[in-house]
Amino acid sequence: MKGHGVLSKRLNSQERVFMAKWAQTSEANMKYQSTRGAEEELSTSEAINRGLASDGGLYMPSEWPVFKIGDFDGLDRLPDIACKLLTPFFSGDKLLAELPQICEEAFNFPVPIVDLEDKLSILELFHGPTAAFKDVGARFLSACMRRINEGAEKDLNILVATSGDTGGAVAAAFDAVPGINVVVLYPKGLVSPRQEHQLCCWSDNVTSLRVEGSFDHCQAMVKEAFADEGFNREFRLTSANSISIGRLLPQMTYYAMASLLHYRKKNLPVSFVIPTGNVGNSLACLWARKVGMPIADIVLATNSNKTIVDYLDSGDWQPRASKATLASAMDVGAPSNMERLRNMFPEMDEIRQAVSAQSVSDDEIRQEIVAVFGKYKMPVCPHTATAFRVYAQLTEKQKDQDWILVATAHPAKFETIVEPLLGQAVDLPPALAEILNMPARRKDIGATLAELRQAMQER
Ligand SMILES: *Cc1c(COP(=O)(O)O)cnc(C)c1O
Repeated sequence: MKGHGVLSKRLNSQERVFMAKWAQTSEANMKYQSTRGAEEELSTSEAINRGLASDGGLYMPSEWPVFKIGDFDGLDRLPDIACKLLTPFFSGDKLLAELPQICEEAFNFPVPIVDLEDKLSILELFHGPTAAFKDVGARFLSACMRRINEGAEKDLNILVATSGDTGGAVAAAFDAVPGINVVVLYPKGLVSPRQEHQLCCWSDNVTSLRVEGSFDHCQAMVKEAFADEGFNREFRLTSANSISIGRLLPQMTYYAMASLLHYRKKNLPVSFVIPTGNVGNSLACLWARKVGMPIADIVLATNSNKTIVDYLDSGDWQPRASKATLASAMDVGAPSNMERLRNMFPEMDEIRQAVSAQSVSDDEIRQEIVAVFGKYKMPVCPHTATAFRVYAQLTEKQKDQDWILVATAHPAKFETIVEPLLGQAVDLPPALAEILNMPARRKDIGATLAELRQAMQER
């Protein structure tokens, strides 16, 4: 097959072992293991339902299927490609038989690839209910969890810390789902007004808590709650953050779709620039490449929270406090999913071969929003602007390749930043307009576990 050389060259020795193992055990059940080495091996449903491993690690699939491009012949809709791609990840699981329906339910909005130039396109991931890419993962997670927990005696409580988009997407996806509650923690003053509304306008099963602190504080509270046995027992907790395997798996599917459609058209693998915060979206792209999708380079665009960029430069992993930027959904100083990346690529050389990263300042984000509008008459959100900026800074040689920039949110969600720069209004997508008309409510709490417990008891 043409192009196969490009793909196989990218497999490192570890991946070849995985491949061989998979070939022998393709009938085997897929298991999930912690990055921190706990003995437990979970089924897909168990790993999805639990969120975080008992030793505090993150779940990784124990084996990697390897696809050939031809395996997807005749499939071009996202739900169909998704079902094919995810089937081995559900092998032996009780949800396997329902995977086609789960995919139809979760991927029920368009994910268009828009061509801007001969070698440049964007992948628009923001046509879901809350106008950001997190709808994809959240809707899939919800479709799985509601099936897994049907008939359970005690309500499940999903605890989610959000720097903006996660909480809205999760709340929307679980809105009014019986037997499952959502508790959203978000940092006061650090999310856009429209984002905040999306966190606070749902049914009674969704509780929105505005925390006196940063996103890192919110995340720390969630971690503390999970580590607290009494808290867990009282509330039957689970997570829906981007550490959840139930969100990562579905995010692989749009990279599979985009790269396959591109390959069919051009006979070439495609490279991606991905706006990055907690590394969930970009990790999914790495996973898609690992299982054989025709993907060449993966470049991470961060805002000025540049923990990852510094790590790739220096080899020192130095998580730090986050700082507020215009691309607020990427304000992460201690990206959790790096633990998975480092688990996949134990050697620094391997990580550097797998990905590169560049940081984009607020000034550059502003310039880029203006520049992209000037060039393509297309408003972009501050997160998407980081990808455009990183693309603009690629070498001419890199630009000889075909690139897809990932557009992670609709610009209307960040109108207070985008509209003054463009000097004109950005049209609201209909789904977002509908949400903004619903009444909102929230509760203020301090950044402590005690206040979180009280708020959840008073629910
Ligand atoms: C969450 C988010 C990101 C960052 O994605 P990660 O998976 O956390 O790296 C980028 N852009 C937008 C709009 C987001 O909501």
